[in-house]
Amino acid sequence: MGHVFHIQRFSLHDGPGIRTTVFFMGCSLRCRWCHNPEGLRWEIALQYDSKKCVSCGLCAALCPNGVHRFSEGGVHLVDFTRCSLCGQCIRACPSGALLYSGRDYSPEELAALCSRDLPYYRNGGGVTFSGGEALLQASFLRETAQLCKQRGVPAIIVDTAGNVPWSAFEQVLPWVDAFLYDVKAYHEDLHRSATGASNLEILENLKRLDQTGKDLYIRIPVIPTVNDRTEEIRAIAGFLQPLTHVRQIRLIPYHTLGRSKYAALGLPEPPNFGAVDESTLALLEAIVNPG
Ligand code: SF4
Ligand code: SF4
Repeated sequence: MGHVFHIQRFSLHDGPGIRTTVFFMGCSLRCRWCHNPEGLRWEIALQYDSKKCVSCGLCAALCPNGVHRFSEGGVHLVDFTRCSLCGQCIRACPSGALLYSGRDYSPEELAALCSRDLPYYRNGGGVTFSGGEALLQASFLRETAQLCKQRGVPAIIVDTAGNVPWSAFEQVLPWVDAFLYDVKAYHEDLHRSATGASNLEILENLKRLDQTGKDLYIRIPVIPTVNDRTEEIRAIAGFLQPLTHVRQIRLIPYHTLGRSKYAALGLPEPPNFGAVDESTLALLEAIVNPG
């Protein structure tokens, strides 16, 4: 079984064509700007969306562990640390404010779901396995990708940050057509302070992946005050330049879309890095995609 937190149908941003994107749980990085915090943890957890709550009080009445309570002012307070995931409040909530942060799938079940949109997978479309870090569940991913291929999914992509042993790539290579590969920084100290991990294995894996002949789509998040300096982006571009199977390099400007999900999962709010300056972005774009 594999842990998955979301399945997005008709996605246009996770590789060529129309795609179904499957978001795996668990990640080996802790990027300070992460906009998919559901993918950080391996374990399924309680999720609470305050915007949907109608303050009916059912969850507080039902919960055996006192997770839900209301302040004197009527504010719904949730102590995520006490939840044993019995599911009673989730089943009872009338507004859908409570849910599990993910669920388990068998490879067969997931491949069947991914095959629902086969008629739309034209012009390079197909299935993208993303996360979190999909390659942390390499055996599950391999089995699912193989079943997807057998069902006729034309193009399978893995979206990875690359911070896994090379053996994880080797497991899935026969069933994967291309990779979306994140490069967040070139200098190791910067990468470590921004993500909590070294990038030596990440860059080495990318070089080895290039030698396999798989198509590579590179994505560089641009995070103000972290990696938005021309020297840093130039260093990344210099590293990528000798690679022969890079089909595209995209800069992804920082955004704040995932911030509300931290509170919904009982996680501390991340820093806000602010908007990327347009002129800076144009300068960096000219470095990674000259001419
Ligand atoms: S899932 Fe169970 S333990 Fe967790 S908050 Fe709901 S009722 Fe309480
Ligand atoms: S059951 Fe749902 S709607 Fe009712 S108070 Fe709890 S979270 Fe809010």
